[in-house]
Amino acid sequence: MNNFTYTLEHSDGEARAGQLSTPHGTIQTPVFMPVGTQATVKTLDPLEVEAIGSQIILSNTYHLYLRPSADLVAEMGGLHRFMQWSKPILTDSGGFQVFSLGPHSKIDEDGVTFKSHIDGSKHRFTPESAIGIQEKLGADIIMAFDECAPQPTTHAYTKAAMERTHRWLLRCIAAKTREDQALFGIVQGGVEADLRRESARFIAQQDIPGVGIGGLSVGEPKEQMYGMLEETTPLLPRNKPRYLMGVGSPEDLLEGVARGVDMFDCVLPTRLGRNGALFIPEGRLNIGNAKYAREDAPIDATCDCSTCQRFSRAYLRHLFRTEEVLGLRLATLHNLRFLIRLMEQAREAILQDRYQSFMDDWLSRFQTIPHAVREASRAARLNSLRTQGEKA
Ligand SMILES: [Zn+2]
Repeated sequence: MNNFTYTLEHSDGEARAGQLSTPHGTIQTPVFMPVGTQATVKTLDPLEVEAIGSQIILSNTYHLYLRPSADLVAEMGGLHRFMQWSKPILTDSGGFQVFSLGPHSKIDEDGVTFKSHIDGSKHRFTPESAIGIQEKLGADIIMAFDECAPQPTTHAYTKAAMERTHRWLLRCIAAKTREDQALFGIVQGGVEADLRRESARFIAQQDIPGVGIGGLSVGEPKEQMYGMLEETTPLLPRNKPRYLMGVGSPEDLLEGVARGVDMFDCVLPTRLGRNGALFIPEGRLNIGNAKYAREDAPIDATCDCSTCQRFSRAYLRHLFRTEEVLGLRLATLHNLRFLIRLMEQAREAILQDRYQSFMDDWLSRFQTIPHAVREASRAARLNSLRTQGEKA
């Protein structure tokens, strides 16, 4: 496992700046990983993905297993060669997608049987097969097969799912054969503080090079997610990277870094971009809005991406209204660069011992909805969650 080393360069409070070296290059953390579900970051050429500063991308085992199949990817020389991406890749285990199928998946102690969302055909994943598939795909970082319990659920079910995730991790470790891949275990435990701590302690004891934090950002209030991170990260080894899975809004990235997270991934920036919702320092703008029809300014005057360097809001709006493919590409480039740059700035702030003030300044400008409205809806959600908990 000498191909993988994590060096903690500097910490500022809980926030960390580090370097993670892999066989395909060194990643500077904290880092946002663009998602290439089908071995492509939608609409972009890998050279463009690289040009906006992406250091590592994520791809999905479930999707690639169904199409084109792990065997075909292996036959074509592995995922890096197949998709022409020379930097590091992380694959998930397929667990999250399979459990998202709801009634179309059935779990037992050995694994999960599920029906393909494409043609309804029957398939089965086990910890061993999830590792086998990821070995064929050939990513640098692979993830343990875990059970992400649906939320909200009972403490008892969350505990059972967490314990199964732990047993499955041991099976993943035993099944792994490739020395040039790093296997990350996954902390589960839903929104139960005692289970998060138990899971973090268990994962911390294993001989694995990194830790995923799963089962968060699945609909729980943000405060609850931040609270769960506070239960988890202090119990994790300082000399291993922490990856908060499926989290990708700008405010969650900053709050995650403040709580000791090093890596993030999410489809949010690319998906929002294709829907014409663009990140700006003040929040989000919807490029379809009539008020941008004659606006000559770029999406974000402070952004260094090629979209903002060259094109006006008026032109972007025109592309979206005429459903031109270029609009999707330019919006995707901007939104990804926005998050990648945010993590570059966060790293800089950590190295200069000013992370908290950087984050406070940034968040005070960035408002997706007015602060008062957000506070009111938070209170309402917390309240309804409590009520559900009492009924359960
Ligand atoms: Zn831009």
